[in-house]
Amino acid sequence: MSRNRDRVGGGNVAHQAESPVASNASSPEQLFSFVVPTEFVELPSKGRFYAVGHPLHNQTTIEIKQMTAKEEDILTSRSLLKQGVAIDRVIQSIIMDKSIDATSLLVGDKNALVIASRVSGYGNIYTTNVGCPACETRQEYSFDLNLAEITSGELIDGVTDNGNGTFLAVLPTSGLNVVFKLLNGYDEKRISNTSTTKGNKPDNLITTQIRAMLVSVNNNSTPDALNYVAENIPSRDSAFLRKAYKSAAPNIDIDQHFTCSNCGFEDTMEVPLTADFFWPDR
Ligand SMILES: [Zn+2]
Repeated sequence: MSRNRDRVGGGNVAHQAESPVASNASSPEQLFSFVVPTEFVELPSKGRFYAVGHPLHNQTTIEIKQMTAKEEDILTSRSLLKQGVAIDRVIQSIIMDKSIDATSLLVGDKNALVIASRVSGYGNIYTTNVGCPACETRQEYSFDLNLAEITSGELIDGVTDNGNGTFLAVLPTSGLNVVFKLLNGYDEKRISNTSTTKGNKPDNLITTQIRAMLVSVNNNSTPDALNYVAENIPSRDSAFLRKAYKSAAPNIDIDQHFTCSNCGFEDTMEVPLTADFFWPDR
């Protein structure tokens, strides 16, 4: 009884007794001794294609922290998932150097961060539901993310590296000299916005992707010229250009062997990098 009365009456004393640790520590970081682990992830681009002044210019690695409850909150936010930006937000959140704009990352570099954070957060085995390309049977399939390999781009014939983040391709049918660049998160956003507003037609998607990578054609870099070329180059040139892009773009290869449990069909399959990638138990 007398103790209770003391606590009610002498607020000062009670306050000190309730939080003896807090009075000796000035920040939560000092209060709790655990530290969120960080790791250095190898960039497929090795920083080669970032302009001078970009924080990743010539940087071969990037430091990220392990995912915490904060990042899980981002991944559970339904509205963010709907916008398809949850993974981008997570990537921005785990990058230690806050001067780096995650959207400015090249697509292949972002993929490397997505895979590394998934492995450190939930392990390397990714079990997901896939459809067999032959018999269409849906089945659970486990991919080992530790088998992902960096591909640093061996240029196909007819393509040269300009050394400034762009590449020159001579198109086999039209003979056009096309300069193209590697795509980053901003380009990806433009591509997905354009294809959504135009009704998401696959034809459109190819045109939009080609338009996004074009820098100049026969030294002409006006939007009108680039639009015209993106929409009108012969299919053979368009296929060549996409192959040229793939050969130039550093990436992380997550294609893995798939065997259908129903019909025995075997092929390599690209592991889907969707938001569900971060939910091993759902
Ligand atoms: Zn099958």
